[in-house]
Amino acid sequence: MATAYLGLGSNLGDRAGNIAKAAALLRERGVILLKVSTVIETDPVDGPPAAEPQSKFLNAVVKVETRLSPVELLDCCQAIEQELGRVRTVVNGPRTIDLDILLYDRLAIDTPQLKVPHPRMFERAFVLDPLKEIEPGLLEELSDACRQIH
Ligand code: ADP
Ligand code: MG
Repeated sequence: MATAYLGLGSNLGDRAGNIAKAAALLRERGVILLKVSTVIETDPVDGPPAAEPQSKFLNAVVKVETRLSPVELLDCCQAIEQELGRVRTVVNGPRTIDLDILLYDRLAIDTPQLKVPHPRMFERAFVLDPLKEIEPGLLEELSDACRQIH
């Protein structure tokens, strides 16, 4: 079994419902939820040019246990995004649900399809704060080498 941390975010529709449904769908697919952070409200960052200001996000981080490989876990996350009606328009645009793999064991993966640790997680308070809440000390444990991969 591998341990992974996933970031969940939603800024469209029933945001809290979308996050709850995503967690339920992960369970349905056999992913074991070990810890679930508080859901926090955050301002959009890195969004497209503000022709259309985006609404605030709800974000959470979950710690999971899974038999899925990293790529299988990504497929699982993307299937759940599809199931919850995410339509990809622009990068970092509004979304009913975004599921990102933040960490997968202590693996460093750098392929076009999948990068782990998630390349932008270390600069995102909406990831770091819930992560610290459920796993205090984890960020300190990660080696500098791991942080410098991306
Ligand atoms: P973002 O989450 O950055 O707003 P998307 O959710 O649209 O963007 O994802 C864009 C692509 O990022 C996905 O098609 C996926 O292949 C890739 N990707 C690379 N690394 C990861 C990761 N760790 N978790 C989720 N997606 C990733
Ligand atoms: Mg994503």
